[in-house]
Amino acid sequence: MEKNTILFMRPVLKEKIWGGNRLSRDFGYDVGEDSRIGECWGISAVPGSETCVAEGPFEGKTLAQLWSEDRELFGGLNYEQFPLMVKIIDAAGDLSIQVHPDDSYARRVEGKPFGKTECWYILDCDRTASIIYGHNARTEEELKTMISEGRWDDLLCEIPVKSGDFLQINPGTIHAIKAGTMILETQQSSDLTYRLYDYDRVDKDGNKRELHIDKCIDNIRVPAERPRKPSTLSAAADIRNLMGDGRLGESFVLELFACRCYTVFEIRVGGSLRLKQPFPFLNMSVVDGFGEINEHPISKGDHFIVPCDFGNISLTGNLKLVASTVMY
Ligand code: ZN
Repeated sequence: MEKNTILFMRPVLKEKIWGGNRLSRDFGYDVGEDSRIGECWGISAVPGSETCVAEGPFEGKTLAQLWSEDRELFGGLNYEQFPLMVKIIDAAGDLSIQVHPDDSYARRVEGKPFGKTECWYILDCDRTASIIYGHNARTEEELKTMISEGRWDDLLCEIPVKSGDFLQINPGTIHAIKAGTMILETQQSSDLTYRLYDYDRVDKDGNKRELHIDKCIDNIRVPAERPRKPSTLSAAADIRNLMGDGRLGESFVLELFACRCYTVFEIRVGGSLRLKQPFPFLNMSVVDGFGEINEHPISKGDHFIVPCDFGNISLTGNLKLVASTVMY
């Protein structure tokens, strides 16, 4: 066991019909010139798309391998899989309108360990950007009618977003990212997505992507949940207790959201910041700037996991990070 080792991840890049070129242009990921890379999976143990360790004693091991061979790195947690996944999404076009199942539906219908609760931290977006979040149907009947009649404008709620916004998306919530938005998504380790509507788009061969209307109707909550503002102030004292009084000049830790599935933090470093690592593990993604973590250089686009019992984290430089963990 090497608990003083930071697990730097080699991301997995995904081409998407709605993808743009900012993951290579702004985040420096090594991709072909003309490819439309929509997603960078920075931390993932989803089978078939696992990130692996880029350097150090665990170099080349996938996150799933570490999970099965060295569970102490993750505080001995007993989930079936590493529980979280972190992505950066560059939407040059609109993503399909979709909904995700909860854990019990995922187990019962799909035979998978996790449903998908996810959350978005808006990294950057056009001035007029918006997202689809929730719907206007008052009853299940009305929902089914609006879907079968294709009354998407009546059904879907669209809300404006700006950079720095945070949105929690519970299972059963209709949602979609729209064009011109870059987000960091923290989610349960799952790729269960049910597509409700895809703007009748066709690929270059004239084929539409598959829809999953029945499974959508099984899962969509009626009436819809309204987006909630994260309650950052009440969490501040807890964070100080857990991670130390990090506030130092321009540097701070902010809890963005906590739920059964994850706790997500925003971390800013302007100079230096020392933190405790009291969690089973801490996922960290650099979303802006550059600097060092415990004297190892880091910059925008890096994703890494600080393991259990690592000791103090020392950050220096000018950095913006999004971090996540699960509670014991
Ligand atoms: Zn989603």
